[in-house]
Amino acid sequence: MAGDAVITAADLERMLAEVEPIGLDPSGATTREAWTEEDRATREWFMDTASRIGLEPRRDPAGNLWATPREPGPWWACGSHLDSVRRGGRFDGALGVVAAFAAAERAEFPLAVVSFADEEGARFNTPTFGSRALVGALDLEDVPARVDDGGVTLAAALAEAGIDPAGLGSAPAWLEKLRGFVELHIDQTRTLAEAGFAAATVDGLAARMRLQATVRGQADHAGTTRASERHDALAAAARVIVAAEEEAGRYEEMVFTPARIEVQPNAATTVPARADLWLDARAIDPATVEAWRAAVLDRAREIARAAAVEFEARTASWSPGSEFDPAIRAALADALPPGSPSVTCFAGHDAGVVGTRLPTGMVFVRNEGGISHAPQESVTLADAAVAANGMLTALTALAEGGEG
Ligand SMILES: [Zn+2]
Repeated sequence: MAGDAVITAADLERMLAEVEPIGLDPSGATTREAWTEEDRATREWFMDTASRIGLEPRRDPAGNLWATPREPGPWWACGSHLDSVRRGGRFDGALGVVAAFAAAERAEFPLAVVSFADEEGARFNTPTFGSRALVGALDLEDVPARVDDGGVTLAAALAEAGIDPAGLGSAPAWLEKLRGFVELHIDQTRTLAEAGFAAATVDGLAARMRLQATVRGQADHAGTTRASERHDALAAAARVIVAAEEEAGRYEEMVFTPARIEVQPNAATTVPARADLWLDARAIDPATVEAWRAAVLDRAREIARAAAVEFEARTASWSPGSEFDPAIRAALADALPPGSPSVTCFAGHDAGVVGTRLPTGMVFVRNEGGISHAPQESVTLADAAVAANGMLTALTALAEGGEG
C-alpha cells in the first residue's frame, strides 16, 4: 500500500478536511443525521477515499460502508461512524473513520475499513443501528416502522437512500468477512486529559439501564382540591427522581440521569394526572445497576402509597456491559506509549455491539474539555496520530500473530 509507514497529524488533518464541510453550519456545529443529504455526501466521500487508497468500496444490506482489501477475507477491520447528533462536533465518529483509512493505507496486511450506519440514532431513536443489523440484533418488526420528527418512517428513509428495508435480515452474512474489529474514538470524559496521556485502551463498556416509569394520579382543580384529596402524579414523580438520585449516590462508580419526563395534562391550574419518567443509570459493575433498580422500585412503591398514586416501571433497555477482547486489549496496551491508561467507557459504541460476536477493541483519544455531542469537542490531531499509530501497530501484531 502507498504512503509512509507512520501516520502523522498532517495526514489526519488532510483527510478530515475533506469530510468536515459536510453538514457544518456557520456556527461550527456539525449535523449529519442518518439517511439524509449529508449522509449521502459522507457516503460519497467514503467511496471515493476507499477507491483512492486501493480498497473496494461497498455497502452492506444495512447501509454500513465497507472498504475491503482485494485479498480474500476474513479481514481485520477498523472504523467508526460518519453520522452525528444534531449540532454535534467535528471528531465524534469521523475521526475514527479517517484514522481507519490512514491505517489501512499503510497496513502491510489486508485491513478493511467500516463506517457503521446511523450510530447516533439521532433521527429515529435507533442508536448503533448499523452494527446491530450486522450482528443480527435489530428488531426487524419494530425498527423500520419508527418515525422521525417529520413523520417519515425509517423504512421510507432507507428506501430513499437505496437500502431495501426487507433486506436488513441478510446483513449478518457480512459478519463472516471480519476476523476482528478495532474502533478509534474520542474520549467523551476528562479522564484521559486528567491522566495526561494522548490515548488509552478501552477495557470495556459499562452496564447501562434505562428504566421507564409511569405514575398515575387523578386530574383535579389546582385550587379547590384539598391536600388530603390529591393524587398528584408529578409531585410523586419528583420524589421518585430524588430517591433514584440518592440511591445512585451510594455508589462512587455510578452515574444517574433523570433523562426525560412527560406530564399530563401539563396545565397550569390542574393537579397532574400522569407523569412518565425515563431514568438512565450506568455503572462498571452490572450488579450495582441491578441493586440500584431494586432499591429505586422499593422506594417508589412507598412513595406511591404515601402519595395515593399508582406506580409502575419496566426496564426499557438493559446492557450488562462488556469487556473487550483480551488479546486486542493487550496488543493496544503494548502499542500505545508506555504508561497509557486503560479505561471503562460509559457510552454505547458500535464496537460494543460488534464485540458481542467478534474479537473487538477500542482506543480513545484525549479530549481536553471532555465535551462531546457538541462543537466544543477539543481533540488535537497530534494525539489522534498517537492513537492511530497505536491501533495500526496493534492490528499488525494481531494479524501477524494469527498467521504464525
Ligand atoms: Zn461516536
